[in-house]
Amino acid sequence: MKVGINKRIMVFNEKGDPSAKDDEMVLINPEITSTSPEEDVHEEGCLSFPLIRGDVRRPKTIGVKYSSLDGEQHERILEGWPARIFQHEYDHLNKVRTSTREDTSFHYNNLFTFFFIFYMSILSVMRRTLSTVQSVHFSI
Ligand SMILES: [Zn+2]
Repeated sequence: MKVGINKRIMVFNEKGDPSAKDDEMVLINPEITSTSPEEDVHEEGCLSFPLIRGDVRRPKTIGVKYSSLDGEQHERILEGWPARIFQHEYDHLNKVRTSTREDTSFHYNNLFTFFFIFYMSILSVMRRTLSTVQSVHFSI
């Protein structure tokens, strides 16, 4: 018998530095509870698509809530870069790829990158079609 445990899990590193493993936090069932009307545009990249970067418009400040691994509930206000990182990872949980956001202008560095992304998109469609396994690098 299988027992489903329905949790959304995000690994959040508010410094955005992949080498700063000690700063990674595991957030259970993270939610955005409020967003500021003020937005800004900043270039983002994604570990899932290392060769493309793009300008993404997002609220500057967000309210979030989540549980930590010990089950404790947390509520925080995130501003600036940590708010942007949280929203990027939150998009992954909701299966929104940054490069497909309507308010995003992504640019490809060169022709090779364009074809690499094209190839990855085909793979992605095939994977979605052929499998029910949904694993984006930061979500379960
Ligand atoms: Zn990403």
